[in-house]
Amino acid sequence: MQNKKRILTGDRPTGQLHLGHYVGTLKNRVRLQDEYDCFFIIADLQVFTDHLKNYDSIESNVFEVMCDYLGVGLKPENTFFVQSQVPELAELAMYFSFLVTLARLQRNPTVKDEAKTYGATSIIYGFLGYPISQAADILAFKADLIPVGQDQLPHIEQTREIVRSFNQVFGKEIFVLPEPLVGEVPILVGTDGTNKMSKSLDNYVAFAHSSEKTERRILNMVTDCKRAYRKDPGHPNECFVFKYWSIFAPTDTPIVRQECETAVRGCKECKAQLARKLNEHLAEIRERRRHYVSQPDLVWDILSTGTKQARMVAGETLTEVREAMKISFPKLGASKGGR
Ligand code: SF4
Repeated sequence: MQNKKRILTGDRPTGQLHLGHYVGTLKNRVRLQDEYDCFFIIADLQVFTDHLKNYDSIESNVFEVMCDYLGVGLKPENTFFVQSQVPELAELAMYFSFLVTLARLQRNPTVKDEAKTYGATSIIYGFLGYPISQAADILAFKADLIPVGQDQLPHIEQTREIVRSFNQVFGKEIFVLPEPLVGEVPILVGTDGTNKMSKSLDNYVAFAHSSEKTERRILNMVTDCKRAYRKDPGHPNECFVFKYWSIFAPTDTPIVRQECETAVRGCKECKAQLARKLNEHLAEIRERRRHYVSQPDLVWDILSTGTKQARMVAGETLTEVREAMKISFPKLGASKGGR
């Protein structure tokens, strides 16, 4: 474990995870977990940056996300933790806030987008300061690598700037300079065939859904709009159902394409077959998920162990930080880790 590079990644607990998360990140995490020392943050405090909505269900959503994580095959031995339960992160974010100018935060593309959409006066301090909080989440654990898509590179750059500023101001090189682990983050279009798969748009297939519900959602998918009649040849490249085939059953795509283009296959049977494939694909994940859902104490124990581990690591980092900042106050007995 000690020789492995450390990765930090995670999700907001906004509800059950779905196929969009699987294609975008979860599959990749399952692949990375044996090679790296993985810290998975369930970033509950980030929920509050979103106009103070949807916070009633944070605890149940944390449980759902954990069951999804374990269901897709992330191993319980990884370090899973809840952001708010590691108060060292908030403390570190406070210290980092002294190193970042307001102008720098306002240059963040996400902040610019928010200002454009809702007006600059709607932006709360917590949203503006979110990259600082994210830097604390990363640096507290001295994570070497952060899996990100291209659009998140500015956040990692902000974190790296904080490291450089800290070193320069306090003269101590405590932090690892994190590197982005840039990968393509594929975006899965939802079952409406128009928007990114998302819970809020109700165009998703969750791990928690039953086979029957999955089938209903797939059967309702819009297909090639140029194919008016069953006897018409289809255009797989213009059909989202075909896109799903290529993601979830790639070896079947040549035959699906051929049968579609020659009108041997009808859309209804094509979707029914896809639903069966998808359900087969998800069967193992769903079974594992059900196992954890039926054992909530076990799930909370895994999270509790991970959160304790995260507090210990973050506490050690904070001890170094306070010493560097000359605020460790050993005579007050407050120098060790968390308070
Ligand atoms: S047969 Fe399948 S791939 Fe072809 S248009 Fe219909 S749903 Fe799409």
